[in-house]
Amino acid sequence: MVDYIIVGAGLSAAVLAERIATQLNKKVLIIERRDHIGGNCYDEKNESNIRIHTYGPHLFHTNNKEVVDYLSQFTTWEVYNHKVLAYIDGKEVAIPFNFNTIYDAFPPHLAKKLEEKLLEAYDYNSKVPILELKKSTDKDLQFLADYIYEKIFVNYTAKQWGMKPEEMDGAVTARVPVFIGRDDRYFNDTYQQLPTNGYTALFRKMLDHPNIKLMLNTDFKEICSLKEKDFYLFGQKFDGHVIYTGQIDELFDYKFGELPYRSVKMVFETLSQEKYQEAATVNYPNQYDFTRITEFKHIHPVNTPNTTILKEYPQAHIPGKTTPYYPIFTDENQKNFDKYLKYSQEIPNLTLVGRLAEYKYFDMDDAVENALRVFQRLRDQ
Ligand code: UDP
Repeated sequence: MVDYIIVGAGLSAAVLAERIATQLNKKVLIIERRDHIGGNCYDEKNESNIRIHTYGPHLFHTNNKEVVDYLSQFTTWEVYNHKVLAYIDGKEVAIPFNFNTIYDAFPPHLAKKLEEKLLEAYDYNSKVPILELKKSTDKDLQFLADYIYEKIFVNYTAKQWGMKPEEMDGAVTARVPVFIGRDDRYFNDTYQQLPTNGYTALFRKMLDHPNIKLMLNTDFKEICSLKEKDFYLFGQKFDGHVIYTGQIDELFDYKFGELPYRSVKMVFETLSQEKYQEAATVNYPNQYDFTRITEFKHIHPVNTPNTTILKEYPQAHIPGKTTPYYPIFTDENQKNFDKYLKYSQEIPNLTLVGRLAEYKYFDMDDAVENALRVFQRLRDQ
């Protein structure tokens, strides 16, 4: 007897499973293709006792107290403020580009002038997306915008997305705005913290409930099918509710074509040295095929003679072969997604939730907030 099937065991899935099991007292079956829970938040300790993020660095940050309070039921936290440097013109400078970066990059008299101009145009401690700054009519600010665009954004974005910043939804590059102030941290949110024993332990706690059954190493279509508008579980018509967190195009057998995703090849190296770099992440906008190097000891401090680094090589996503990481934000892709969404809405006992199913660039806090809202909708139906 199952009331809900949840496809996937990532963040959105775990929130919904936990809420349904504990608040509705209903039975949930989670079907996960991978051999582990946690989706792309999954972390593990490697052979050198260093905690690594298998699917790339995941840094929890939010202004949403409700999300923090919710997750705090399942974990305690360590405060962690993520710092990122970018290697440009032979120097490592702090990003998001801020007043400290300006003083590192330019001679003092020019830096002072640029700082004053920024403060005339924008509020102190505000964030200005690079594509906004580029519209500035002041010639000094135009110079600054062109510099940041050329040195930080254009080549990184070409590697990461295979596109120019202006060809994509501005929200993507606005994630790393120019910061009108001196805060060197990558994020400015009120809460910046990591689960004390890692993300995987957090998920384990969320899913540890007698109402939740978990099938790992199982493809949804091995045990479920969708015929016309009806789901079948082990060949029997399923009258419960299906919450699907996988790729929406895959669920519908690519009937409106493939939705493009960007993938990343994650290459880990463990080195016989205590430390590799000055910050947790160093971005390389203009060199190499990888975008950035993350050193996990900065994120999860541990006393070991070795260190583990991760180089991220963006690549095209090939269904069935690579991991879909990022939806690609163009108007055309959004239109195609909308076709799938409309089609999905004709299936009454189906709910799509999460980054892949909703084709959205969710941060972890967005994913939790969104899943909590979806739960409220399901509960009140
Ligand atoms: N970006 C860039 N240069 C950088 C950092 C970011 O051009 O040094 C752009 C790039 O398009 C990237 C986007 O800003 O995809 C968002 O960056 P973020 O670090 O938020 O990406 P994520 O950690 O989600 O991969």
